[in-house]
Amino acid sequence: MATNSIAAASETTHFFSDVCKNFDYAAQFTKHDAGLLDQIKSCNSVYRFRFPIRKGNGFEVIDAWRVEHSHHQSPTKGGIRYSQMVNEDEVMALAALMTYKCAIVNVPFGGAKGGIRINPKNYSLLELENITRRYTVELAKKNFISPSIDVPAPDYGSGEREMSWIADTYATMNPGQLDAMGCVTGKPIALHGIAGRREATGRGVAIAARECVSIAEDMHKIGLTPGLSGKRVIVQGLGNVGYHSAKFLAEFGAVIVGLCEYEGAIYNPDGLDIDAVFQHRKVTGSILGYPGAKQEFKTSGEGLEQPCDILVPAALENQITVANVGRIQAKIIVEGANGPTTPDAEQIFYKNGGIIVPDMYANAGGVTVSYFEWLKNLSHVAFGRMNRRFEENTNANIVNMVESITGTSLNPVQRASIIKGGSELELVNSGLEDTMIRSYHEIRETFKRIEKIDTLRTAAFVGAINKVAVSYQNLGVWP
Ligand code: NAD
Repeated sequence: MATNSIAAASETTHFFSDVCKNFDYAAQFTKHDAGLLDQIKSCNSVYRFRFPIRKGNGFEVIDAWRVEHSHHQSPTKGGIRYSQMVNEDEVMALAALMTYKCAIVNVPFGGAKGGIRINPKNYSLLELENITRRYTVELAKKNFISPSIDVPAPDYGSGEREMSWIADTYATMNPGQLDAMGCVTGKPIALHGIAGRREATGRGVAIAARECVSIAEDMHKIGLTPGLSGKRVIVQGLGNVGYHSAKFLAEFGAVIVGLCEYEGAIYNPDGLDIDAVFQHRKVTGSILGYPGAKQEFKTSGEGLEQPCDILVPAALENQITVANVGRIQAKIIVEGANGPTTPDAEQIFYKNGGIIVPDMYANAGGVTVSYFEWLKNLSHVAFGRMNRRFEENTNANIVNMVESITGTSLNPVQRASIIKGGSELELVNSGLEDTMIRSYHEIRETFKRIEKIDTLRTAAFVGAINKVAVSYQNLGVWP
């Protein structure tokens, strides 16, 4: 049997210890005892497994993980990463971030994460399906998947297609289980998914950026004017999170001046058309050569260092380190990816007069809408289905009454916009926007209230630690 190649260098990563370092720093601003803090910080269950798949005339052994970081809430929740570089440390770190992320946006889940060590590009569709289904079976065998225990979702390298295979495998193994479709989120709409999930993380990133720049007092401190309009943005990664972040930021009035992919970066101070770049990459296989770019760079890293106001790393961790942070020209980093900035780089960026909107909050739009999808699956009815028409009739009655009292009539467009009931997409987007806005102000309030807290990340951690601590205290310890 051939063994799936192991990127030895990736075994020496320290992503989990970086997350713990941030946790420990924030913990000093809380009043919990050391034992409780230790319980919050630890990864409760780390399941490492290997399984064979057929490849050509032989077999290949696949390395895989599922980590459930915290059981203070059930189920646990977190995406599955398909990457050749994935390793145990990374999955543990990402699972821990999920715990804090859910707490920050008040989603009642514990944190989890999965990893499959493959480069999806090296496998046929059938092989990918076999890997995904076998991965699901391995999780089911050990009780690491179910709507009430642990609910995966997409992450780097996976999407709706993989989530469909997981849902189908789980449902097949659990015939008659009414809530089976709630075993995974990020499914296509036709397979019990929810409107707005695909773009939710990117939409959330854009709302996070908009909220951050809307506060005049904070913007003046870093030498920027308030408001997103005209702000120059560079985005790294044109996948699910990066593409949608760029799209919504442009929709909110920002100018996308730079895009970075793993093959290189492009820049135009007058703005890039994100859809045109996306199409160009689809056809040619690269963002390089895009006719609307004024400058090209051979590496993604060089792209990060170009002039802009806001940088959105939305690819992978460890992109902004002590080695390049001094050359980053952005004043604000909004972390679309998980862990793109190392703790030491963050300190330098703040010292240089910048703000970082941390991953645990900035990319929480995905898990927020996953929560809505899970609720939809458990209630077996689409949001808006029961009340949309009722709302429209009630609103129409109110408008009719106002028209008859005032003797004035609304024109058809005004009338339609007032009486309209919310569709599933509108309700999801409204819930997402509300969550992102409230959570930003919750974090900022902690940041302002505790004088010694010097970053939004520490403030976010403090809020998350306090919420998880309350859950653990309420649960008690048994036996
Ligand atoms: P994806 O697989 O859809 O896209 C990732 C993109 O990054 C790809 O286009 C890839 O080519 C590109 N990339 C890889 N290495 C790069 C490099 N060095 N420079 C520039 N580009 C590079 O993945 P995704 O779902 O968009 O996830 C991206 C990040 O966002 C990950 O850190 C993930 O954990 C995080 N995240 C994703 C979600 C979600 O809902 N998908 C939610 C929260 C957080």
